[in-house]
Amino acid sequence: MITIKSSREIELMKEACKVAFLAHKAVEEAIRPGMTTYELDMIAEEAIRKNGGIPAEKGYPSGIQGVPNYPASTCISINDEVIHGIPSKTRVIKDGDIVSVDLVALKNGFNGDMARTYLVGNVSPEAKRLVEVTKQAFFEGIKYAKKGNRIGDISHAIGEYVKSQGYSVVREFQGHGIGKEMHEDPGIPNYGKAGRGPRLEPGMTLAVEPMVIEGKPDIWELEDGWTITTQDGSLAAHYENTILITEKEPKILTIL
Ligand code: MG
Repeated sequence: MITIKSSREIELMKEACKVAFLAHKAVEEAIRPGMTTYELDMIAEEAIRKNGGIPAEKGYPSGIQGVPNYPASTCISINDEVIHGIPSKTRVIKDGDIVSVDLVALKNGFNGDMARTYLVGNVSPEAKRLVEVTKQAFFEGIKYAKKGNRIGDISHAIGEYVKSQGYSVVREFQGHGIGKEMHEDPGIPNYGKAGRGPRLEPGMTLAVEPMVIEGKPDIWELEDGWTITTQDGSLAAHYENTILITEKEPKILTIL
């Protein structure tokens, strides 16, 4: 079921999204070569809590028997890691890495979801281009995030743009509705046919999140049950905002 948020609920969504934005701001200011992903996770968690939020990813169920609940406040995925990398005291961020940080802030019962891929130090022009295309894919998608359009219009725009740039989208993971639950209906694939899927209505809040691979789209899931990597070892990037469907243009709630 797709939830339509009331104006009161939209105000609460905005607050949660602001906390996610502020946490990313703290991450952006702190990230540097030589630090561990655990340290970066702590910085994000502190920023979320300082602003009255709860890191919603911590303790999130894996849904897979034998795989523990998610242990950290953020997902930090470096280079060929696509998503759901687990922060670690032994994983050191290096000069030239591209580092995807995905976090969800829960505040007053509502969730704000946001991901960015950060360029650390001297990043290759190829990696920079991948990160830029992934960001642009989000903006190509939300051109269609308008009342009366369908989810498939967003998916199609993202997929076609990424393909036109010579990259692949991840097929096994997708964007999603968001609100009281981190993951709500509808699913928002990063590829698909225009004109298909649920119709967009004002009051829907959606996490639109292109996950883009430099090479082939195939992925591995690592033995930790969480980390997703590219099979061919090529780079991956991630860009996500929580948006609100309105009577006119979509509002990006995680950019202030
Ligand atoms: Mg996310």
